Formats: sequence, structure tokens, C-alpha cells
Amino acid sequence: MAIVIVRNDNLVDVWKDALSSQAPDIPVYGFGEGIPESDIKMAAVWKHPPGSLNAYPNLLGIQGLGAGIDFIFDDIEIREDLPIMRVVDPYLASDMAEFVLAVSTGMLKKLQDYKYKESLSVWKPQSYERFKEVTVGIMGLGKLGLAVAQALESVGFSVVGWTRNSVPEVNFPVFRGSAERAQFLSRSQILVCLLPLTPETRGILNRDVFSALPRGARLINVARGPLLNDADLLYALEQGMLSEACLDVFHTEPLARDHPFWNHPAVHITPHIASVSDPKSVAPQIISNYRKIIKGEVPENLVSRSAGY
Ligand code: NDP
Repeated sequence: MAIVIVRNDNLVDVWKDALSSQAPDIPVYGFGEGIPESDIKMAAVWKHPPGSLNAYPNLLGIQGLGAGIDFIFDDIEIREDLPIMRVVDPYLASDMAEFVLAVSTGMLKKLQDYKYKESLSVWKPQSYERFKEVTVGIMGLGKLGLAVAQALESVGFSVVGWTRNSVPEVNFPVFRGSAERAQFLSRSQILVCLLPLTPETRGILNRDVFSALPRGARLINVARGPLLNDADLLYALEQGMLSEACLDVFHTEPLARDHPFWNHPAVHITPHIASVSDPKSVAPQIISNYRKIIKGEVPENLVSRSAGY
């Protein structure tokens, strides 16, 4: 009985080491190694090649190696009876909170603009905003959205949130579903997207949403690229609906060299690094899930196939 790690990057060995050092009794293989395929009970995956898991006839579960598992649903060959698990990890949440706090701060204090002016040797003081004057709207109040909300509130931002069904126990206003979306958007001077990518949320960051924000609002998309309609973002910036956007995720990654976002003065790009799974921190939940599925027990952090997250 064994685990196979299937990733689209060069981190297979890092994950193997993290798992093997914490559970020396469990054989762990990397995709493409000489694997006893019928021994594999769990596939731990990050953007695996679609169809590649068909090689393992005795698979009992699929463990995503990040919080977002949309790429697993993209693989239409995945067996419908297999449980899918995702990562829930305190570092993933606190790293995301630190990132959004840093970006929001940079926006209010115009740090990106000064960096640009510096490259031109231009000295031009501008006005700035205070945290307590700004309301941040967080789309998605899950594990990451709640951590972001807490970090922003702790330094003085006002926060509002938007969810699908849940009403988390928080002391800021939470709006739900499409019926309350406009109310939520009208208060969001900075809109942070932390929704999972599902059929319902794909393309949700579009012209309708941007036009419902306070004029000149800012966008931070740290969720998934296909949540955003790229053309609508460029239009919203041109029309002044939005004043700037920080994007960490894109339809295609890496972002194509000729994409108009690269040279847009109001679009700030980071290469999907807002929050990255830490193998050592995440390994215990993978090991625990592996032990559970081979005993026929219910694993942790199960994804709902019907909801898509
Ligand atoms: P969770 O599953 O814990 O939370 C998802 C939240 O989104 C919930 O509040 C949920 O509402 C809400 N939601 C889902 N669908 C809708 C909808 N149709 N309308 C309104 N609200 C909706 O996810 P996490 O917080 O763990 O992660 C969020 C996403 O962040 C991941 O899916 C991933 O794509 C992205 N991510 C990005 C990273 C990066 O580095 N850029 C790193 C890690 C994750 P409800 O509570 O009602 O179910």
C-alpha cells in the first residue's frame, strides 16, 4: 500500500521527503518512477495530467495538495466514487492574510506608483488613505477569507463579506447569495476575491460586478484566474469603475508574454504566490487521511462534489 505524488512542477521530491520523514512506514512514489501501480491507494496531486490517475486501479482517494481543487474536477476521467480531499492549513491561511494585507497597504499608500515614479526619477508626493477610512469586501469567507478578514480588521480596516450559504460568526456584515450581492458590492472599496472556482463562480468578476462597486474601487484577485473576465477588467479600468487591480492568478499560468495586463500601469502582477502549501506543515493531514482511507474511515477536509469545493 502506497501514496503516489503527481505534480506538474519540480516539487515532487520535496513532497516525498516531507511525507517520508514524517511517516517512514508509508511507501511514497513520485509520478513516473517505477511504481507498483496496483499498490497505490492515494494519489496526492497538484495539476496532474488529466487521465493520469487511471494508472492506479486500487486508488481509494485523491488528495489535492492545495486549498483549491478545481483542477481535479477538470479531469473528467476521475472515478466518481473516489473521495477528494483538499488542504486546510494554518500557514496557508496566515500567508494569504499577510499577502492581502500587504497588497491593500501598498494600494492605499501608493507604493506601486512610487516604485514606477522612482524608475523615472520623478519626485511627486500624493495624498494617501488610512486603513480606518476604507472598507474591504471579501468574496468568500472560507478558511482563507476569514483569516484575511481578521488580519484586515486587526489593523483598522472595515470589512464586509459575501458567502453562498453560510453565516460565519463574525462581528462584521455578511451578505449571502445573489440576492444580497449588490448590497455587498456597494460597500466594497477594495474587492478581494477568495471564492473557489466552480461553474457558479467562473467569470464572476465581470463588468456587472465592477459597475456595482464604488467608483474607482480596487480589485485583488487571489483566488483563480478564470473567476475574472480579463476584457471586462480592462474595460472597467478604462472607464474608471476600477482604479487598479492586483492579480495573483490567471487563466493561463504563466501569463502569456503578450498579455495586455503586463504593461498596464494599473494592473499589478504576482506569479501565483499569495499563499503556497508548505509540505512540512501539510504532511500530517495527508498522512492522517491516507491512514483513514485505507481503514475505510472518512478522511478530513473532504470536498463536496456537488458544490465543487
Ligand atoms: P473555502 O472552501 O474554505 O471557502 C470558500 C468560500 O467561498 C465559502 O465562504 C463559500 O461560501 C464561498 N462561496 C463558494 N461559492 C460561492 C458562490 N457561488 N457565491 C458566494 N460565495 C461562494 O475555501 P478557502 O478559503 O480555503 O480557499 C478559497 C480559494 O482560494 C481556493 O478555492 C483557491 O482557489 C484559492 N487559493 C489561492 C491561493 C493563491 O496562492 N493565490 C492559495 C490557496 C487558495 P459558503 O461558506 O456559503 O460555502
